[in-house]
Amino acid sequence: MNVASVIVDVAVMQTDRPFDYEIPERWQEVIQPGMRVIVPFGPRHVQGFVLEIKVDTEIRKLKPIVEPMDIIPVLSEELMKLAHWLTIESLCFKISALHVMLPAAMKVKYSKLIRLTGEKSLPPELASLFKGQTEIPWEEASDAGALADIRKEVKKGTIEVIYSVKSKGRKKTVRMVRCLLSEEALAETVGTMAKNAVKQKEALLAFSGRRGNWLTLKETGMSSATAKSLLGKGWIEEKQEEMYRDPHSGRHFEPDKPLKLTENQQEAIEPILATINDGTTETFLLHGVTGSGKTEIYLQSISQVIEKGQEAIVLVPEISLTPQMTERFKRRFGNDVAVLHSGLSIGEKYDEWRKISRKEVKVVVGARSAVFAPFENIGLIIIDEEHETSYKQEENPRYHARDVAIWRAAYYDCPVILGSATPSLESFARAKKGVYTLLTLDNRVNDRPLPSVDIIDMREELREGNRSMFSRTLFDKIKDRLEKEEQTVLFLNKRGYSSFIMCRDCGYVAGCPHCDVSMTYHRHRHQLKCHYCGYEEPAPNICPECGSEHIRHFGTGTQKVEEELLKLLPEVRIIRMDVDTTGTKGSHERLLRQFANKEADILLGTQMIAKGLDFPDITLVGVLSADTMLHLPDFRSSEKTFQLLTQVSGRAGRHHLPGEVVVQTYTPEHYSIQLAAEQNYESFYQQEMTMRKMGGYPPFYYLALINVSHKEAIEASSAANKIVTKIKPSLSPAAVILGPVASPIARINDRYRWQCLIKYKREPKLTAVLKEVLEHYAKQGKSNELLVSVDIHPYMLM
Ligand code: ADP
Ligand code: ZN
Ligand code: ZN
Repeated sequence: MNVASVIVDVAVMQTDRPFDYEIPERWQEVIQPGMRVIVPFGPRHVQGFVLEIKVDTEIRKLKPIVEPMDIIPVLSEELMKLAHWLTIESLCFKISALHVMLPAAMKVKYSKLIRLTGEKSLPPELASLFKGQTEIPWEEASDAGALADIRKEVKKGTIEVIYSVKSKGRKKTVRMVRCLLSEEALAETVGTMAKNAVKQKEALLAFSGRRGNWLTLKETGMSSATAKSLLGKGWIEEKQEEMYRDPHSGRHFEPDKPLKLTENQQEAIEPILATINDGTTETFLLHGVTGSGKTEIYLQSISQVIEKGQEAIVLVPEISLTPQMTERFKRRFGNDVAVLHSGLSIGEKYDEWRKISRKEVKVVVGARSAVFAPFENIGLIIIDEEHETSYKQEENPRYHARDVAIWRAAYYDCPVILGSATPSLESFARAKKGVYTLLTLDNRVNDRPLPSVDIIDMREELREGNRSMFSRTLFDKIKDRLEKEEQTVLFLNKRGYSSFIMCRDCGYVAGCPHCDVSMTYHRHRHQLKCHYCGYEEPAPNICPECGSEHIRHFGTGTQKVEEELLKLLPEVRIIRMDVDTTGTKGSHERLLRQFANKEADILLGTQMIAKGLDFPDITLVGVLSADTMLHLPDFRSSEKTFQLLTQVSGRAGRHHLPGEVVVQTYTPEHYSIQLAAEQNYESFYQQEMTMRKMGGYPPFYYLALINVSHKEAIEASSAANKIVTKIKPSLSPAAVILGPVASPIARINDRYRWQCLIKYKREPKLTAVLKEVLEHYAKQGKSNELLVSVDIHPYMLM
């Protein structure tokens, strides 16, 4: 008997293994590994993935597969292997690893239908339920209290219950028609038609000269009623053509040609091209300041890959998937490019995925999850801005796109390019050790100078009586740009520094009742909102603690900066980009276009403007608060500050006009700020490595973070203690266990949080014991309300 081993779509520990199902005779030829199937599981029917097909000689009573969901496998053998690897590496359920590789549209819902078999007639009380239809939704029967009667009929064979899969990923189709008449017959027919058949005549005439072509109804100008009558007469035929929802429809991309590489670029690209040609796997770290021509190297490497008949994946951070970035790929490779990002609708994403799956494109440009693009002949994987923490997924499977890229590249024997102006310490250390190959671009293309950077000590400003959020230097320079009609970018480092409400008399800070964090003040609605659990309440006008009216909001949100700027310079035109103004689809793109068209003097925003912007008239970049991130309880805070400041500075003076940068800070002496101003990556690396070595952090140690949460603080802490006791004996004396301690954010959504950080170099037993811990708590099920999670190589430590 042929048996399929299936991973079912139920993400709990007990089901995290394959289950065997019989393959019914009629699907013997159809069902293959990598396909989705519907299988019975307990009382339900669920979706599952076929892992393998086995021939089973044992006599067992297996349940049969209900039906296949795919005609061809949606996951290749390679992706199935990758899923297996992900499961082990990130300690996730196999079903999570399989799901992450498919677009959301392919996650299906099931609906039950009750259908008449037509074998015998129904008793009248049930017949009325069907109202002449052959099938009705299960819910209708259930609501009518008819399920018991229906069960009887099912036994008799009058009725069957079927499981219908509601796929969100509907293909979009368009109706096409074609004329079957010869040119003469067409003219003759039109001539002999009744006078009042105007519409039909027009419709037929639309085909003259285009006979034999498939046209959409729109192109012929006929209505569906007209089409119906022409079809009835046999004059035309029709078909449904599958259509892609094209997010770029109506946009024309002016094709461009490869640029002649500079000597420096030529040196960097040669080893890459060599590995592409030889078909060897190697990881390159391309370190080059912003504007040094990294993207041009990507483009030309991809050309080589396409020429060889292979495919390329390009990952860019979601936030820099700007139209400007994707346009460069569209211009170079035209219709060979698919783009995947969160701005697309579920349907659009599904369509892009299908283009990749059918190999109708050669290049995919996308955010993190595009690393799973279903190509089967990959020749190159590129990760731009490789230091970005958004490449790590913060939910199961907790994978890092860099690791997945390197795995896939090894499978296909092809190179990986990691590009950055500020590589992560981990990657740079690997390059220094020779694990990665370091390629360096020292200068900007055509030696355009890097912008000059002024560091302004805001304590000094305060001492000299300037209480505004703009230093005198920055303000003067903004005014100067307004006069010269040049553009300014103002950057507010908002992370860890949003506006909150505080009482000036008693110091009360409005905190979330469910989490140990202060709530963020939203001025336009006068509301307080918790960004961790979503709780909202109206902002108070008097202090709930002491009754004082001196309660007001602190912190510098982008809105507040905008207001202050308008007070000082009423005529200035500002475009503000933050979560509030970019919430709707396409708004990000629209605002950038407005700025590019010089409809504003100043672009003001948060993290999201730090990257990818490349406008010729930006000559001033102001960083309003450089150090807000430095004080977060995160060993990467200096690295993140350095990266962000370097990125932001890179926005100025990219073209013919020279650029200036003003960095305002309360800690001007900090090495991450000083060295970012000098754009001195190498010194920063040395300094930061010393700190990491002293602290015992990556890249000197690996980390594993265990998070425990429970509604009762005591339960969370005691479970965390038990876990540590359990793990300790399996670790070598070289491993360091920090904790358990209460997490920096000790409560979220009414759950108390404890954590334990393991620092290690080589612990062969670690993943096994962590898996045991997870299994142990999962077995206790939901009843005890305890949640335990493990994050290997964590990026979020709060
Ligand atoms: P990066 O990706 O390192 O920021 P880009 O590839 O975007 O750098 O290059 C910066 C600018 O220089 C772009 O406007 C690009 O068109 C231009 N450029 C890159 N390479 C060359 C070249 N070889 N010759 C002329 N201009 C180039
Ligand atoms: Zn008060
Ligand atoms: Zn909250």
